[in-house]
Amino acid sequence: MRTRLANRLSVVAPSMTVKVTALAAEMRARGVDVVSLSAGEPDFDTPAHIKEAAKRALDAGATKYTAVEGTPRLRQAVAAWLAKAHGFPVAPAEVMVSAGAKQAIHNAFHALLDPGDEVLLPAPCWVSYAEIAKLAGARPVPVLSRPEDGFAIDPARIAKAVTRATRMIVLSSPSNPTGAVFGEAALRAVADLAEHHDLWLLTDDVYRGLCYGGARFVQPATFGPEIRRRTIIVDGVSKSYAMTGWRIGFCLAPPEVIAGMATLQGQSTTNAAAVSQAAALAALEGPQEDLERMRAAFDERRRLMLAGLRAIPGVTCVEPKGAFYAFPDVASFFGKQTPAGRTIRDDVALCEHLLEAAQVAVVPGSAFFAPGFVRLSYATSAANIEKGLSRMAKALAELR
Ligand code: GLU
Repeated sequence: MRTRLANRLSVVAPSMTVKVTALAAEMRARGVDVVSLSAGEPDFDTPAHIKEAAKRALDAGATKYTAVEGTPRLRQAVAAWLAKAHGFPVAPAEVMVSAGAKQAIHNAFHALLDPGDEVLLPAPCWVSYAEIAKLAGARPVPVLSRPEDGFAIDPARIAKAVTRATRMIVLSSPSNPTGAVFGEAALRAVADLAEHHDLWLLTDDVYRGLCYGGARFVQPATFGPEIRRRTIIVDGVSKSYAMTGWRIGFCLAPPEVIAGMATLQGQSTTNAAAVSQAAALAALEGPQEDLERMRAAFDERRRLMLAGLRAIPGVTCVEPKGAFYAFPDVASFFGKQTPAGRTIRDDVALCEHLLEAAQVAVVPGSAFFAPGFVRLSYATSAANIEKGLSRMAKALAELR
């Protein structure tokens, strides 16, 4: 029988971050000594008290379905956690728990976007926003910021991209992949734009705990009640608490939007895993010292990676101020030849070459709407960063 896949798959691309990371893992399983700088995943283990709480929860019966929106206890804790972080009251009815922030975004896009709607994506931005928007039938509209501006969002450009079809603006600060942390003035201008044009503002805050060197996270919903009403906040425990595999993400939205998202989730995964919800509760309510320990380690690695990248001839790199990615410009290598005589035409070819010739896995910038760049994650050991960069420097120096 000929396999005929649904038409919707013709508009959606596989996740490049997931793909490159899987490829590196597969090479490692074959015995290849790959340095993976691709995964957006802390190398730290989940803090011990969180794992212990999960083990206890299993014995206490966290093995059944929970409410679709999350256990009442966790929703309450998330509401309190968000209220404390942002300084405004949050009701548990405004909160929903999903299997990762990615599912929360999936729910939000499918609950709020209709075919033909446009979603403005200040970019470079995470690979999945555009693809999930397309799955919902909407049209992603990237609005590029520039390295010479430190990849800061440009409200004037965003304003120019607004049309009658625009329904939503998606912001992620600190940014994956650039590490930019957006300033208050620019965020206020974007918030004004959302109010003026009656748009939703979705902020992906999964990296908000990871700011460095004086950079400060600002949540636009704190600007006033009108923007608070139209802001959907996506957050989670994956990055800050080193809990990627537990798959727990949160969404804050008006209760009627939460209800719509619950209908969608009730027809897909139902609830996030009960044991993971118990672990997330322990993460939010338990000791918080591990967060600072991990943040400080990322900061050290950030400096190591930035210095290493800037030391490679032909590479330039904006200083990342948050998250755990560096996003260097590698366009000067395009058009050059490998020792085997293959021409490096673009970022994808360069990433393939680095993987084959130097066994270093990095993600092509085109997946983030920035084809002259590559993304490197520094959520890995200093030794790995040094090894990966020295291999990369050698492979790049051999291009002619
Ligand atoms: N968000 C992480 C990244 O960008 C994890 C993989 C993914 O879901 O994209 O690498």
